[in-house]
Amino acid sequence: MPLRELSRTEYAVNLAGLAAAFAAYRRREGWSPGQMRDWQLRRIRRLVEHAYARVPLYRDKYRAVGFEPGDLGGWDDFRRLPTVTKAELVGGFPDSSMARGVDVAACLISTSSGSTGRMMDIPHRADRLWPYVLATHRIFRWIAGRYPPGWRHAYIYTSRYPVRPIPGFYPLSFIPTAAEPERILAALRASRPQLLAVYPSILRGLLAIDTQGLRDLGLRAVSVNSELSTQAERDAWSAALGCPVGDDYSSEELTRIAAQCQAARYHLVEDIAYLEILEETSDRAADGIGEVVGTELHNTAMPFIRYRQGDLARLDPNQCTCGRPQRILSGLVGRANDGFTLADGRRLPAGFLIDACYRALMNHPGVAAAYRLRQTSGDAAVLDVQPGPRWVASAGSSLVTALQAEIGSRMSVTLRTTTDLPRDSSGKRRTIVGLPSQMGRMV
Ligand SMILES: [Zn+2]
Repeated sequence: MPLRELSRTEYAVNLAGLAAAFAAYRRREGWSPGQMRDWQLRRIRRLVEHAYARVPLYRDKYRAVGFEPGDLGGWDDFRRLPTVTKAELVGGFPDSSMARGVDVAACLISTSSGSTGRMMDIPHRADRLWPYVLATHRIFRWIAGRYPPGWRHAYIYTSRYPVRPIPGFYPLSFIPTAAEPERILAALRASRPQLLAVYPSILRGLLAIDTQGLRDLGLRAVSVNSELSTQAERDAWSAALGCPVGDDYSSEELTRIAAQCQAARYHLVEDIAYLEILEETSDRAADGIGEVVGTELHNTAMPFIRYRQGDLARLDPNQCTCGRPQRILSGLVGRANDGFTLADGRRLPAGFLIDACYRALMNHPGVAAAYRLRQTSGDAAVLDVQPGPRWVASAGSSLVTALQAEIGSRMSVTLRTTTDLPRDSSGKRRTIVGLPSQMGRMV
């Protein structure tokens, strides 16, 4: 669903917020973990008080465990708060999940789709968007090393960002995902961006039809997110484009969670969401891999406090070679239905399958403009291919043979050509589609 435009007042308030907070966000990046933890706790205390006073869902949950807002003295108290799930927030929307007194008309509503197929509307106050703009700015700086105000930023997305441009100041150009790849390329040539934000499935398609044309743009950094891509793919894209390509881990609920630095590690965006890794079956901290649970530090219209995101990951105790103090998230895996479960119970993770497709496609340049690998039974999958400029039937057969060799004998792959691969309402496309009955999780 496209976001509505900001009103003049909302825009002015956000602009003032941006100007006032810009330096603070830069400073916070250098804070020690202790300084950051103190700031996060202060912020969380205010958020919990607000949720207890205005959001019935949280008040009921907290009362049920005998918690009063004044009880939140330190982190141990915070860790005793019950976690909240998507089902609870969706079930309570809007009356119990949204803060009382918040006018829906004063909010931007985004929709979380997610692989569970359960939709959730998420309101954000339209005059409190600057933290997210500053987080986006930071994510590009982490990839590119810098982001001066004159750099042009193109984003290939479903709808425009709800911002009004200021001429010559962080110029933005919007290119719709729905456009044909040739038109997207033409729009990129016209806007000559230094920075590009794009879904992996779109970038794969653009590279399939014109690698040199993309390289000639002289991009300084590319940000890919929202869909799964693997480090092997991003390294290859980086080599093809001649610039760093970074991923970030985001969700509609927790917004910016973590982003890659130039050493390809995922650092937490600590001042946007406070992250914990908990056991899946309890609210205790997990030892190693566990469920991503986040507290979004800015959304007061619909607070997310100890929200179970559903993904699995772990916190890496090691320091990154880049020297950033933010904690490192690693081992991030999505839900099991992003991968395949074979008839004998073995799992093929989505990352493995994407890498297998990538290696097969790499040796068949231009054959596929887009693809999707879809499991059809316990031991069979179909590779849906949208033919690229160098498509011929024999190249298609060779592609499937190469993919079969990557995957091995555990699953047979057949080819199907198609002129259209579906995208969801937000323009994303699932590249790896498991059987719908797979609701378990993989580690
Ligand atoms: Zn780093």
